[in-house]
Formats: sequence, C-alpha cells, structure tokens
Amino acid sequence: MAQLSDDCFAFGGALTPLDDALALLEERVSVVADAETAALRGALGRILAEDVRAGRPVPPHDNSAVDGYAVRFAELDPQAETCLPIIGRIAAGDPPVLADPDARGAVRIFTGAVMPAGFDTVMMQEDCREEAGAVHIAPGIGMGANRRFAGEDVEAGAVILGAGRRLQPQDLGLAASVGLSALPVRARLRAALFSTGNELREPGAAAGPGAVYDANRFALAGLLDRLGCAVSDLGILPDDRAAIAAALAEAGAGHDLVLTSGGVSVGDEDHVRAAVESLGQIHFWRLAIKPGRPVALGQIGRTPFVGLPGNPVAVMVTFLRFARPLIDRLSGAAVHVPRTWPVRAGFDHRKKANRREWVRATLEPCAGGWTARKFARQGAGILSSMTAASGLVELPEDATDIRAGMTVDFLPFSELGA
Ligand code: AMP
Ligand code: MG
Repeated sequence: MAQLSDDCFAFGGALTPLDDALALLEERVSVVADAETAALRGALGRILAEDVRAGRPVPPHDNSAVDGYAVRFAELDPQAETCLPIIGRIAAGDPPVLADPDARGAVRIFTGAVMPAGFDTVMMQEDCREEAGAVHIAPGIGMGANRRFAGEDVEAGAVILGAGRRLQPQDLGLAASVGLSALPVRARLRAALFSTGNELREPGAAAGPGAVYDANRFALAGLLDRLGCAVSDLGILPDDRAAIAAALAEAGAGHDLVLTSGGVSVGDEDHVRAAVESLGQIHFWRLAIKPGRPVALGQIGRTPFVGLPGNPVAVMVTFLRFARPLIDRLSGAAVHVPRTWPVRAGFDHRKKANRREWVRATLEPCAGGWTARKFARQGAGILSSMTAASGLVELPEDATDIRAGMTVDFLPFSELGA
C-alpha cells in the first residue's frame, strides 16, 4: 500500500503548525482505496473513483415547458389575435407525430411532450382561448417561448460528476437522469478505532470510583461513518504499552488507517507513541493548536496511524481539521477545505501567538450579519460545548487579542461534517 512515504517528517519534538502538517499530508499521502461499482441506491456518500460522463443529452429532445399549444412563430400575427386550427395533440411520452405535418395550425401539447418538427414556440394554455377546434392567441409572445432545448441541462459527452466527489442526493438524481444505474466508487476506507485509558468504561457497564464512560469512540465512529469509512470499533485499550502495541499491530495489518484517542501526551501513563514507534514510526506528535496539541501522525508498518488527544473536544476538533484531510486523501476524495464565514466577534479573547485556536460559538443575528457568541466554558473536556455550539470561530496563528466587534472566521459544524 502506498500511504505515507517512509522518510521522517523531521519535525522532532517541535510544535508543527497546522498548515505545515496539512501540506505534508498533501505531499506524502495518496489514495489507497480501490475502485468498485455501487448501485445508485447504495451510492449516497460514496466517493467517485473516476469522472462520469453523460451518454446522452438531458433533456433528450426539445420539449414543452408548459401545458398549452405549440405554434410556428411565423404563423402568429404580431399585432392582432391569431386564430389557428388545432391539428394534433402530443402528451409527455407520445411520439411527436402529426397527421399532416405541413398544415397551418397549433398543436395541443403538455409539459415534457416532445416538440413536433418545425414548431418553435409554446403558448401557455392560461393565455389562450380554445373554441370549436381552434385556438385564439393574443399577440405579444416571444419567439421560442416555453420551449426547452435538447441538452440544455446536460450535453451528451459532458462530465457530469468529477472524480473524488462525495456523492450527494442531487448527484444520484443527475446520474439517473442520463440513464446510469451504477457508479464507479472507491471502496470504503477500512478504519480501525480504539480508545485508550484505564479509567474508561463502556457506556451501559458499571462505572466505579475513578471511572468515566468512553465518549470519544462514539463521536469518532459517527464522524468516520459520515465520511463513508468502514469502521472497525475495536474498543478500549488499557494504559499498557505492550497491550497497546499488540492491538495496534493486529489492527494495522487489516486496515487502511488506525485511529486512537488518548495516551499520546507526555504523562507517565501515555504509552501510545512508544507503542507505535515499536511498530513503525511517529512523524510528529504535537501541533501548534488549541485545543488538541498532542496529535500524533505515524505509521504502523505501512499503515497510517493517527493518535488523537484524549479530551473529547480536542478529539473532535483535531479530527475535523487534521484527520479528515488525511482520510479524504486515503479515500480518494477531493480534500474538503472547510469554508469560513466572516462574522462579528461577540466576545473578547486573548490567545498565544503562533498557534491556531478554535472557540466554540453560536451565532446570533445582528444588524447586517451575525455575531458569534462564545460558549462560556471552553475547556477541552467540556463536550457539552460541542452540542451547545453551532460551530467554531477559527483564530489564526498571528492573532493574540480579539476584541468584541472585530471580524472573525466562523466554521459552521455543517461545513465540517460534525
Ligand atoms: P489522556 O490524553 O489520555 O491523558 O486523556 C486526557 C483526558 O481525556 C483525561 O481526562 C481522560 O480521562 C479523557 N479521555 C481520554 N479518552 C477518553 C474517552 N474515550 N472518553 C472520554 N474521555 C476521555
Ligand atoms: Mg489516558
């Protein structure tokens, strides 16, 4: 498998700026997921493996956009009412056949019906009067009105969906409109997921003194599901280097990515980095960000490894801003660069220079736009802040003193996939 190249990322123990980490992913990580075919109904959220072209135009023929009367514009009197005999009737799905195609007259036609040859304009039925086999048409319509052209939606041969796209409902509709019943997609990325920590318990199990329930695995599994990964939920690992190494070695062999949370920092009970180093290497393990400084990128054999922090907010933020671009690359997806929206800061905030920082916030309408209200408790362990907030204010490395009223960048969770 071609994942991370073997040479060291050479960042030692220094704090790696997020943009440098993302640039290294761009340089070193390539797609591992094979191509396969998915039926249209099962293709939602899957990643297109190649460009898809239209085998025929949409619409496939010139047709009427309204219920009414097809006419030849040249037969209309531009100054006065025109009366034309009705010489045929064509509904959607009918062949556009007329008894006498050369006769002067109008054709009763319905929305989606094929335009008969030589007819170029359609009068809406609401604008006409039909009487004794003829239709009376007021002057004023433009040439070509209410006529839809073959190929005006999609031209035959055009690329309708590009490789790397995560398929959305409208994409499936578009593929269906050109007659495709299946699409070439990437196989789901096989992601192994662990939590680490002696204190962790499975939700539903008894939790004695000192125990906390494992929150991270459930949030992470949801994020991975949304990215279309095939998630192996491999449970909770103890704070024991040998046990972690054994479990990671096995997971590395059968997966495209191994993801853990907790145990990557500098505490005596943080054994994940040493375990990974014994099986491969760590490329870097500290990012210049808050929350979430301890984030490790490494490899187990040739399989990429990401060690996320333990604190649940840090886990989610680092997943969204660092693990997701890695997953996009490995999966063959076009890397999603989250768009930010300028909003007004509704808070004062001081931060250290040289690190990217995210503040959980909700938006409130204000004159001319939106104000971001900072969630009161910003600790990296305050998971309820992720539920209460609607997104993150992203503060750049060089910002230090944010004052209410300044313009800041807001990243809605919907944009991040959270
Ligand atoms: P660590 O990085 O392992 O020292 O963990 C940092 C903090 O995150 C500690 O308070 C842990 O108890 C907590 N933590 C780690 N993993 C989880 C988890 N899966 N669910 C909830 N809290 C966790
Ligand atoms: Mg721990």
